[in-house]
Amino acid sequence: MTARILVVDDIPANVRLLEVRLLAEYFEVLTAGNGPDAIETCENGKVDVVLLDVMMPGIDGFEVCKRLKSDPATSHIPVVMITALDQVSDRVRGLEAGADDFLTKPVNDLQLMTRVKSLVRLKSLTDELRLRASTTRNIGIEELLSRNFATEDTKPKVLLVDERKSSIERIRKMLRGSAELDVATDPNAGFFQAAETAFECVLISTAFADFDALRLCSQLRSLDRTRFLPIMLLADEGEEGRIIRGLELGINDYLTRPIDQHELTARLRTQVRRKRYNDQLRASVTQTIEMAVTDGLTGLHNRRYLDSHLETLFDRAVARRRPLSVMITDLDRFKSINDAHGHDGGDDVLREFARRLRKNVRGIDLACRFGGEEFVVVMPDTDGPIAEKVAERIRAEIAQAPFAIGSAGKTIEVTVSVGVSSVLRGADTVAALMKRADLALYEAKSGGRNRVVAKAA
Ligand code: GH3
Ligand code: MG
Ligand code: MG
Repeated sequence: MTARILVVDDIPANVRLLEVRLLAEYFEVLTAGNGPDAIETCENGKVDVVLLDVMMPGIDGFEVCKRLKSDPATSHIPVVMITALDQVSDRVRGLEAGADDFLTKPVNDLQLMTRVKSLVRLKSLTDELRLRASTTRNIGIEELLSRNFATEDTKPKVLLVDERKSSIERIRKMLRGSAELDVATDPNAGFFQAAETAFECVLISTAFADFDALRLCSQLRSLDRTRFLPIMLLADEGEEGRIIRGLELGINDYLTRPIDQHELTARLRTQVRRKRYNDQLRASVTQTIEMAVTDGLTGLHNRRYLDSHLETLFDRAVARRRPLSVMITDLDRFKSINDAHGHDGGDDVLREFARRLRKNVRGIDLACRFGGEEFVVVMPDTDGPIAEKVAERIRAEIAQAPFAIGSAGKTIEVTVSVGVSSVLRGADTVAALMKRADLALYEAKSGGRNRVVAKAA
C-alpha cells in the first residue's frame, strides 16, 4: 500500500524523524513547517493522510484541522493529531476540530504504522466514492451530495456488546441524550443483532470472560451487511497488542478504560458522521449514476458518463505518468443493415455488438456507447501497442461469427472499424486524444473498413 503522507511540525528534527520512519515503509512523504503551508499543500496536492503537530506558533494544529475539515475540498483527508502529552482535554479539543485520530509523542512505531495504514485504507474507499460522485457533477446531483442532510441531528442507533453490568450502566448513562442504545450481553446474539438492525456504530468490549472480542470484529468485517459498520473497541489499559490487532482487522477506533464521557461521545460522533457521509455518497452514487449514465439499449455507459469520466482518468494517467489509450469503434455500413432489416434488426446488432465488446475488455476499462453505432473504450494503464491488440481482438470477434437478428434465426455478417490513440508525453489534452482516435477511425474507414488503425505517438 503506498500513499502520500503530509507531516506537519514546526520543529525540523521532528519532521525528519517521522519522515524517515514513513519512508522506510515506502510511503511518499510531504512536509510542512507551519499551518498555512500545510493547508496549502492539502489544497493543491493529493494528500492521503495528515500527521499534524498540535503545538505550533501562529496557527496551531487545532485550527489547521478545523480549517481542513470545514473546506469541502479537504474535509475528507484523514487528520492524525500528534499531541505532546496524553491529555484527554487535548484529544477532546482535537475531536471537536474534526481530527480522525491521535498519536502521543514520542510516537510509538507500531501504532504509527497501524493507524496510518488503517486511515489510508479508509481514504482509498472514500476516494473511490468521491471519484464516482464527481462523475455525476454534470448531471445535477452535485446539490444532493453537498447538501447538509437532515439526518445530521438525529440520534444514532448504537449497539453495545458487553457482558459486565456495571460497565453497561456507565456507558448507558454517558450516551443518554446522544445515542439510542441497544445492548447485547452475548457476543453471538450481538453479531446477529448487528446483522439484522441498521446500527450506525457498534461498541465492543474486550472484557468477556471467555470470548475473544476480536473474533466478533472479524465476523462483522467479513459480512456484507456489516462491512461498513463502524466498530469501536472498549479496551482495558495494557491491551495495546490487542488494539493493534483490532486495527489490522479493520476496527475504526478504540477507547481505553476508564472511559471519558466527552471522548466517547466525540469519537462516536466522528464515526457516525463519517458513516453517514459515506452511506449517502454510496446511495446517491449507485442510484443516480446508474439511471443517468447508462445507455438504455446496450446497458453500457453513455456519452455523458464518458464526457465527465474521461477527463478524470486522463488527469490521473498524466499525474502518475501511466499510459492511457482510447479506441473509437464504428460499425461498417450500419445504415444498410437498418435499411435491409429494419430499425429493430439494427438494434439487435447494437446489443450484440455491445455484448461482444464488453466481453473483450477488462473490468477497469470504460466502455461507452458514444452515440448511434459508435462506441468508445477508455483503457487505463494501457499503452498504444497493447491497445491496438485489444482493438484487433475486438475487430476479429465481430467479423468472425455472424450476428443473430430477430427471433426467426436470421443472421448477418457485421464488421467494425476501429481508431486507436494513446496519451502522449508532454502536452496533450483529452480533446486532442479523441481527435487522434477519430482521425485513425476515418483512416480505417477510407482504407477499406473492417480494420484497426492506430495513431502512433
Ligand atoms: P460507415 O461504414 O461509414 O460507418 O457507414 P454507416 O452506414 O455505418 O454510417 P452512417 O453514420 O451513415 O450511419 C449510421 C446509421 O446508424 C444511421 C442511423 O440511422 C443509425 N442509427 C443510429 N442510432 C441507431 C439506433 O439506436 N438504432 C438503430 N437501429 N440505428 C441507429
Ligand atoms: Mg457513424
Ligand atoms: Mg458506421
